Amino acid sequence: MRLRNIPRAEGVIQLHRAVIKRPEAQRGNWKQIFGNENPIYIEIGMGKGQFILEMARKYPAVNFIGIERYSSVLLRAIEKFDTEDFQELENVRFVCMDARSVEDVFAPKEVGQIYLNFSDPWPKARHAKRRLTSQEFLERYEKILADGGAVEFKTDNTELFNFSLEQVKEAGWTLKHYTYDLHHNEELNRGNVMTEYEEKFSSKGNPINKMIAVKK
Ligand code: SAM
Repeated sequence: MRLRNIPRAEGVIQLHRAVIKRPEAQRGNWKQIFGNENPIYIEIGMGKGQFILEMARKYPAVNFIGIERYSSVLLRAIEKFDTEDFQELENVRFVCMDARSVEDVFAPKEVGQIYLNFSDPWPKARHAKRRLTSQEFLERYEKILADGGAVEFKTDNTELFNFSLEQVKEAGWTLKHYTYDLHHNEELNRGNVMTEYEEKFSSKGNPINKMIAVKK
Protein backbone atom coordinates (compact mmCIF):
# COMPACT_ATOMS: atom_id res chain seq x y z
CA MET A 1 0.00 0.00 0.00
CA ARG A 2 1.41 3.34 -0.97
CA LEU A 3 -0.86 6.24 -0.21
CA ARG A 4 -0.43 9.64 -1.80
CA ASN A 5 2.36 11.44 0.03
CA ILE A 6 0.92 13.37 2.97
CA PRO A 7 3.32 16.19 3.85
CA ARG A 8 2.16 16.48 7.48
CA ALA A 9 2.59 12.72 8.13
CA GLU A 10 6.23 12.95 9.25
CA GLY A 11 5.47 15.74 11.69
CA VAL A 12 2.46 14.01 13.23
CA ILE A 13 4.37 10.76 13.58
CA GLN A 14 7.34 12.45 15.23
CA LEU A 15 5.12 13.92 17.94
CA HIS A 16 2.80 11.01 18.60
CA ARG A 17 3.13 9.26 21.98
CA ALA A 18 2.59 5.76 20.54
CA VAL A 19 5.29 6.08 17.86
CA ILE A 20 8.80 5.00 18.80
CA LYS A 21 11.12 7.47 17.09
CA ARG A 22 14.52 5.79 17.42
CA PRO A 23 13.58 2.12 17.52
CA GLU A 24 17.23 0.94 17.35
CA ALA A 25 17.76 2.54 20.77
CA GLN A 26 15.16 0.16 22.26
CA ARG A 27 16.89 -3.00 21.03
CA GLY A 28 16.84 -5.48 23.92
CA ASN A 29 14.73 -3.11 26.05
CA TRP A 30 11.29 -3.23 24.51
CA LYS A 31 9.71 -4.56 27.69
CA GLN A 32 10.70 -1.32 29.44
CA ILE A 33 8.73 0.66 26.89
CA PHE A 34 5.63 -1.25 27.91
CA GLY A 35 6.57 -1.43 31.58
CA ASN A 36 5.76 -5.12 31.96
CA GLU A 37 7.07 -8.60 31.15
CA ASN A 38 4.36 -9.51 28.65
CA PRO A 39 5.44 -11.05 25.34
CA ILE A 40 6.01 -8.83 22.32
CA TYR A 41 4.24 -9.62 19.05
CA ILE A 42 4.93 -7.61 15.91
CA GLU A 43 3.09 -7.05 12.65
CA ILE A 44 5.29 -6.24 9.66
CA GLY A 45 3.60 -4.23 6.91
CA MET A 46 0.78 -3.17 9.17
CA GLY A 47 -0.92 -0.83 6.71
CA LYS A 48 -3.72 1.22 8.27
CA GLY A 49 -3.61 -0.69 11.54
CA GLN A 50 -7.00 -2.42 11.80
CA PHE A 51 -5.53 -5.85 12.60
CA ILE A 52 -2.99 -4.79 15.22
CA LEU A 53 -5.41 -2.49 17.02
CA GLU A 54 -8.09 -5.18 17.21
CA MET A 55 -5.47 -7.69 18.38
CA ALA A 56 -4.23 -5.29 21.07
CA ARG A 57 -7.77 -4.82 22.32
CA LYS A 58 -8.46 -8.55 22.29
CA TYR A 59 -5.21 -9.58 23.99
CA PRO A 60 -4.33 -7.07 26.73
CA ALA A 61 -1.63 -9.40 28.13
CA VAL A 62 0.40 -9.13 24.91
CA ASN A 63 2.41 -6.10 23.76
CA PHE A 64 2.00 -5.30 20.06
CA ILE A 65 4.31 -3.35 17.77
CA GLY A 66 3.08 -2.36 14.31
CA ILE A 67 5.78 -1.84 11.70
CA GLU A 68 5.07 0.12 8.53
CA ARG A 69 7.48 1.49 5.94
CA TYR A 70 5.53 4.56 4.77
CA SER A 71 4.74 7.50 7.04
CA SER A 72 1.59 8.35 5.05
CA VAL A 73 0.24 4.85 5.77
CA LEU A 74 1.34 4.85 9.40
CA LEU A 75 -0.49 8.15 9.81
CA ARG A 76 -3.75 6.34 9.03
CA ALA A 77 -3.04 3.76 11.75
CA ILE A 78 -2.33 6.53 14.24
CA GLU A 79 -5.56 8.29 13.34
CA LYS A 80 -7.41 5.03 14.01
CA PHE A 81 -5.55 4.56 17.30
CA ASP A 82 -6.65 8.06 18.35
CA THR A 83 -10.33 7.18 18.06
CA GLU A 84 -12.50 6.36 21.06
CA ASP A 85 -12.29 2.62 20.37
CA PHE A 86 -8.52 2.36 20.77
CA GLN A 87 -6.96 5.42 22.42
CA GLU A 88 -6.92 3.87 25.90
CA LEU A 89 -4.81 0.90 24.77
CA GLU A 90 -1.50 0.72 26.64
CA ASN A 91 -0.18 -2.34 24.82
CA VAL A 92 0.44 -1.04 21.31
CA ARG A 93 3.24 1.00 19.72
CA PHE A 94 4.16 1.90 16.15
CA VAL A 95 7.43 2.03 14.26
CA CYS A 96 8.09 3.57 10.83
CA MET A 97 10.85 1.52 9.25
CA ASP A 98 11.77 -0.92 6.52
CA ALA A 99 11.54 -4.46 7.87
CA ARG A 100 14.92 -5.27 6.33
CA SER A 101 16.40 -3.75 9.51
CA VAL A 102 14.45 -5.79 12.08
CA GLU A 103 17.64 -7.22 13.53
CA ASP A 104 18.83 -3.68 14.35
CA VAL A 105 15.64 -3.02 16.26
CA PHE A 106 15.03 -6.29 18.10
CA ALA A 107 17.57 -8.32 20.07
CA PRO A 108 17.85 -12.10 19.63
CA LYS A 109 14.68 -13.84 20.86
CA GLU A 110 13.00 -10.58 21.84
CA VAL A 111 9.87 -11.20 19.74
CA GLY A 112 7.25 -13.86 20.51
CA GLN A 113 5.32 -13.85 17.26
CA ILE A 114 5.41 -12.19 13.83
CA TYR A 115 2.31 -11.41 11.77
CA LEU A 116 2.51 -10.82 8.03
CA ASN A 117 -0.78 -9.88 6.42
CA PHE A 118 -1.31 -9.43 2.70
CA SER A 119 2.34 -8.65 2.13
CA ASP A 120 3.34 -7.08 -1.18
CA PRO A 121 3.76 -9.91 -3.74
CA TRP A 122 6.78 -8.56 -5.67
CA PRO A 123 5.79 -10.72 -8.69
CA LYS A 124 9.03 -10.37 -10.67
CA ALA A 125 11.49 -13.20 -9.96
CA ARG A 126 14.37 -10.74 -9.63
CA HIS A 127 12.54 -9.11 -6.70
CA ALA A 128 11.88 -12.37 -4.83
CA LYS A 129 14.27 -11.39 -2.02
CA ARG A 130 12.04 -8.43 -1.20
CA ARG A 131 9.07 -10.67 -0.40
CA LEU A 132 8.53 -10.64 3.35
CA THR A 133 8.31 -14.46 3.37
CA SER A 134 11.54 -15.03 1.42
CA GLN A 135 14.34 -17.05 2.99
CA GLU A 136 16.29 -13.81 3.40
CA PHE A 137 13.54 -12.46 5.64
CA LEU A 138 13.01 -15.80 7.40
CA GLU A 139 16.68 -15.72 8.42
CA ARG A 140 16.15 -12.31 9.98
CA TYR A 141 12.98 -13.46 11.75
CA GLU A 142 14.71 -16.58 13.06
CA LYS A 143 17.17 -14.41 14.98
CA ILE A 144 14.65 -12.12 16.66
CA LEU A 145 12.01 -14.78 17.42
CA ALA A 146 11.94 -16.49 20.80
CA ASP A 147 12.22 -20.28 20.92
CA GLY A 148 8.96 -21.73 19.63
CA GLY A 149 8.08 -18.38 18.01
CA ALA A 150 6.09 -18.40 14.78
CA VAL A 151 5.28 -16.41 11.69
CA GLU A 152 1.58 -16.20 10.89
CA PHE A 153 0.97 -15.22 7.29
CA LYS A 154 -2.29 -14.45 5.46
CA THR A 155 -2.74 -13.56 1.80
CA ASP A 156 -5.21 -13.95 -1.03
CA ASN A 157 -2.30 -14.30 -3.48
CA THR A 158 -1.92 -18.04 -4.02
CA GLU A 159 1.32 -17.69 -6.00
CA LEU A 160 2.93 -15.79 -3.15
CA PHE A 161 1.46 -18.29 -0.69
CA ASN A 162 2.93 -21.29 -2.56
CA PHE A 163 6.28 -19.52 -2.78
CA SER A 164 6.10 -18.91 0.99
CA LEU A 165 5.31 -22.57 1.75
CA GLU A 166 8.41 -23.52 -0.26
CA GLN A 167 10.59 -20.96 1.47
CA VAL A 168 9.51 -22.13 4.91
CA LYS A 169 10.39 -25.70 3.96
CA GLU A 170 13.76 -24.70 2.47
CA ALA A 171 14.59 -22.72 5.59
CA GLY A 172 13.95 -25.79 7.76
CA TRP A 173 11.05 -24.23 9.66
CA THR A 174 8.10 -26.35 10.82
CA LEU A 175 4.84 -25.78 9.01
CA LYS A 176 2.36 -26.08 11.86
CA HIS A 177 -0.86 -25.26 9.96
CA TYR A 178 -1.86 -24.12 6.53
CA THR A 179 -5.03 -23.66 4.53
CA TYR A 180 -6.02 -22.31 1.13
CA ASP A 181 -9.42 -21.26 2.44
CA LEU A 182 -9.15 -19.77 5.90
CA HIS A 183 -12.71 -18.54 6.17
CA HIS A 184 -14.03 -22.08 5.62
CA ASN A 185 -11.52 -23.73 7.95
CA GLU A 186 -13.30 -23.93 11.27
CA GLU A 187 -10.19 -24.56 13.37
CA LEU A 188 -7.91 -21.90 11.89
CA ASN A 189 -10.63 -19.30 11.45
CA ARG A 190 -11.71 -19.42 15.10
CA GLY A 191 -10.99 -16.00 16.60
CA ASN A 192 -9.62 -14.71 13.28
CA VAL A 193 -9.09 -10.94 13.26
CA MET A 194 -9.60 -9.49 9.79
CA THR A 195 -7.25 -6.99 8.19
CA GLU A 196 -8.33 -4.21 5.81
CA TYR A 197 -7.13 -6.18 2.79
CA GLU A 198 -8.72 -9.37 4.06
CA GLU A 199 -12.13 -7.65 4.26
CA LYS A 200 -11.67 -6.17 0.82
CA PHE A 201 -10.59 -9.35 -0.96
CA SER A 202 -12.86 -11.79 0.83
CA SER A 203 -15.87 -9.58 0.08
CA LYS A 204 -15.00 -10.04 -3.60
CA GLY A 205 -15.10 -13.80 -3.09
CA ASN A 206 -11.32 -14.41 -3.03
CA PRO A 207 -10.34 -17.28 -0.71
CA ILE A 208 -7.78 -16.35 1.94
CA ASN A 209 -4.66 -18.47 2.47
CA LYS A 210 -3.06 -18.77 5.89
CA MET A 211 0.01 -20.49 7.27
CA ILE A 212 1.61 -20.72 10.68
CA ALA A 213 5.31 -21.60 10.55
CA VAL A 214 7.45 -22.19 13.63
CA LYS A 215 11.13 -21.30 13.55
CA LYS A 216 13.63 -24.13 13.59
N1 SAM B 1 -1.37 -5.64 6.45
C1 SAM B 1 -2.34 -4.72 5.89
C2 SAM B 1 -3.60 -5.44 5.52
O1 SAM B 1 -3.58 -6.68 5.45
O2 SAM B 1 -4.62 -4.79 5.30
C3 SAM B 1 -1.72 -3.95 4.70
C4 SAM B 1 -1.35 -4.76 3.50
S1 SAM B 1 -0.49 -3.81 2.26
C5 SAM B 1 -0.69 -4.72 0.83
C6 SAM B 1 1.21 -4.15 2.66
C7 SAM B 1 1.83 -3.11 3.59
O3 SAM B 1 3.14 -3.52 3.93
C8 SAM B 1 1.97 -1.73 2.95
O4 SAM B 1 1.42 -0.75 3.80
C9 SAM B 1 3.48 -1.56 2.78
O5 SAM B 1 3.88 -0.21 2.86
C10 SAM B 1 4.01 -2.42 3.91
N2 SAM B 1 5.37 -2.94 3.65
C11 SAM B 1 5.77 -3.60 2.54
N3 SAM B 1 7.08 -3.93 2.63
C12 SAM B 1 7.50 -3.47 3.83
C13 SAM B 1 8.75 -3.49 4.50
N4 SAM B 1 9.84 -4.04 3.93
N5 SAM B 1 8.85 -2.95 5.72
C14 SAM B 1 7.76 -2.37 6.31
N6 SAM B 1 6.54 -2.31 5.71
C15 SAM B 1 6.40 -2.85 4.50
